[in-house]
Amino acid sequence: MKFESYSFAPEILRAIAECGYETMTPVQRLAIPPVRRGQDVLASAQTGTGKTAAFALPMLQKLCDTPKPREATKARALVLAPTRELTEQISKNIQAYGKYLELNVVTVFGGGKTDTQAQKLRKGTDIIVATPGRLLEHLMAGNLSLSAVEFLVLDEADRMLDMGFIADIQKLIQAANKERQTLMFSATFSGGVRKLADEIMKKHTVLTA
Ligand code: AMP
Repeated sequence: MKFESYSFAPEILRAIAECGYETMTPVQRLAIPPVRRGQDVLASAQTGTGKTAAFALPMLQKLCDTPKPREATKARALVLAPTRELTEQISKNIQAYGKYLELNVVTVFGGGKTDTQAQKLRKGTDIIVATPGRLLEHLMAGNLSLSAVEFLVLDEADRMLDMGFIADIQKLIQAANKERQTLMFSATFSGGVRKLADEIMKKHTVLTA
């Protein structure tokens, strides 16, 4: 299956072609159609399977389908991931896929400069990619509001739970807009992952690549 078969904007198709992607990986074939239809999804995906594009491409498409002006402290999409390395990797990929779109990405992780992150968050952005602990600190400090989040992704959900991020994730999601699309990607479907999925998604589709 080719990316052209889905109604992605020409700007997105051009960026994907420049990345050298020709056909979709299994997780992309499986996840992109329901995500494009607006469904909540829990998908099993190992690292290196192309899962970043599986959530990032429909996310970028959704943001450019309904353009909105940036508002101070707000963001329209939030991606949570367990480590600094992963947040940086995800942001890099989103920037590559969105290079022909006018979308702003802010990356937030523990160990990074809090003041610089706070400044960027206060200005408002389109997409935040963050580790849960540091993002919660910014939320508590009033540097951001999650009330406008339309698209929420939990990447490597099992690893985030193993690392003890559950309480931080729950607090962040409690502060998030209820009218949103939510996706969870996880290498394993542990009891904790399924419980969190039931907690934060209404009716969701479970996909196994
Ligand atoms: P990820 O699992 O998202 O970290 O992706 C793993 C690697 O696969 C990255 O280097 C991506 O650039 C690459 N990739 C993702 N989707 C495709 C695709 N459809 N065709 C070829 N490479 C891809």
